Amino acid sequence: MDNNVLIPRPETEELVEWIIANCKFPVNELKILDIGTGSGCIPISLKRRIRKADVWAVDISEAALNVAKKNASALGTEINFLHLDILNETNWERLPSFDIIVSNPPYVPGKDKEQMQPNVLKYEPGIALFVPDNDALLFYKAITRFAKQHLNTEGHLYFEIHEDLGNATMDLLQSEGFLPEIKKDMQQKDRMIRSGLKK
Ligand code: GLN
Repeated sequence: MDNNVLIPRPETEELVEWIIANCKFPVNELKILDIGTGSGCIPISLKRRIRKADVWAVDISEAALNVAKKNASALGTEINFLHLDILNETNWERLPSFDIIVSNPPYVPGKDKEQMQPNVLKYEPGIALFVPDNDALLFYKAITRFAKQHLNTEGHLYFEIHEDLGNATMDLLQSEGFLPEIKKDMQQKDRMIRSGLKK
């Protein structure tokens, strides 16, 4: 870990547990993608628990990917890491289709900066945290559209979300043809969404 990546949060661990709880074991073939992987905590945890899964992870930051690769090899996990900006649609064709797409993208509006813990601002990269105040769902919009093209019919899209943006994110997913389901974290905050495609 270094200051190129976020320190994993308990809510992200809950997201991983939710994904695993929804997997039908034994798993034979399962292709998983994590978008904006940072330290790699999501794909590494998933690969360790679902050994047969084919796990991919992408990030715009090469420095973050280097941390993720080190973590993956230290924990004996094989993950397909790719350096790629998901906001740039021309990159999408570099990725295949998946059964599970997961993302904990940047979602903190810049205006929230003042209320944040000094250690977060000092030791964690702004690129992994902040979004413009006027477009807080920037990454959710792009990833939802990507998922429409790259999620297998029976697959699921999982998001970690901002606690105040649950309804807005649900609306976005519904308008793009998904059936979203929201879940609270252990602090009773709206924190994650799982979506399948409408049949
Ligand atoms: N939950 C994190 C925080 O408040 C933010 C994580 C993120 O932006 N994806 O620090």
